[in-house]
Amino acid sequence: MKPPLSRSERFFALFPEAKPYRMKQLEEALFHTSESNFGNITTFPKELREILAAHIPWISVQCEKAIESANKDTIKAILRTEDHVRFESVLMANKRGQWTICVSSQIGCAMGCTFCATGAMGLKRSLHEDEIADQYRFWRMYLDQHERHNERISNVVFMGMGEPMGNYDNVKAAIHRWLTHTDIGPTRITVSTVGVLMNLERLLTDKDWPPVRIAISLHSADQKKREEIVPTTTPDFLNNLVAWSHKYAAIHGNRRHHITYEYTLLSGVNDTPEIAEELAQYIKKTSFAKVNVIPWNPVKGKVFSTSATDRIEKFKAVLRAHGIDVTQRRTMGEDIAAACGQLITESAEPPNGRRIPLMLP
Ligand code: SAH
Ligand code: SF4
Repeated sequence: MKPPLSRSERFFALFPEAKPYRMKQLEEALFHTSESNFGNITTFPKELREILAAHIPWISVQCEKAIESANKDTIKAILRTEDHVRFESVLMANKRGQWTICVSSQIGCAMGCTFCATGAMGLKRSLHEDEIADQYRFWRMYLDQHERHNERISNVVFMGMGEPMGNYDNVKAAIHRWLTHTDIGPTRITVSTVGVLMNLERLLTDKDWPPVRIAISLHSADQKKREEIVPTTTPDFLNNLVAWSHKYAAIHGNRRHHITYEYTLLSGVNDTPEIAEELAQYIKKTSFAKVNVIPWNPVKGKVFSTSATDRIEKFKAVLRAHGIDVTQRRTMGEDIAAACGQLITESAEPPNGRRIPLMLP
């Protein structure tokens, strides 16, 4: 499935002679006005604005539905692309009293992790750079429209639908857009990946790769078990990842750029104290790292179960006894199926001429 053309593709198709700074000006305006049309972009002459309005959508994603969790700390939006495919994006209150957006990078996912709802969908298509970048614009407008102008979006995590390292160029382009046009700094952006080594290698030599944080979804320190949990695991993945982590640390490593290993705990599968011991030994072989354990969020049709609290505590204690910095992911938005790995959307029917408003109240 091919994505629609991006804004910049359309812009340069309309104005092949335009200087690149003009496109930058357009994006700057898109990120900095809460108006929803081109009429206010006074840096462009009126005739130009009219052409833009006729050929380029103001925003690449439309909201079909926004659902708020009972305790109001999480809002999930079902967004629709121009070609009528739905995906989800989540706004979560963070510890700093600000908002974190959990963005999607693809519709569905090809990696097939056995415990994940998005993986069960397969990959429909990758999102293009505007569809990723505009999730920020969407949530900014959402807050503004709900009289929350003063509330800040301070962080972005690529922990929604899809595998960001399976959509490298678009993910990178979207990150650059946020770094240029918002006040979010690179250490407030985290790319979470299941570990597509080919592209993790690529970012090491990519001069244009932004200094964002990387989180790797590990789930097991045993090659065979990881292949069962994450069937797309490549041969000798765990050893190759150790080697990669040292190369990464040599280039980007400092306290602000540690690697985080995410570890989804599946009861009876990867959560015993012996397995924690094995994980600790593995983590010690990698470069400076932290571990973030994620209690499994139930997914319909999956046979796994969530680890009991005392089991989770024991698991963390084993890692801590080895001096490993461990945090536990707070589960948010479970009541609206917006927690990690619960994101799934069926494909949307074309709206049959029905006009869907930008935002529902
Ligand atoms: N594809 C990327 C990013 C999206 S998933 C990745 O896998 O890293 C974001 C995080 O949610 C990953 O760490 C993933 O392992 C975790 N996750 C997926 N499904 C989950 C579930 N049902 N319960 C808890 N965590 C889950
Ligand atoms: Fe894809 Fe990440 Fe889900 Fe695995 S956990 S299927 S990589 S979205």
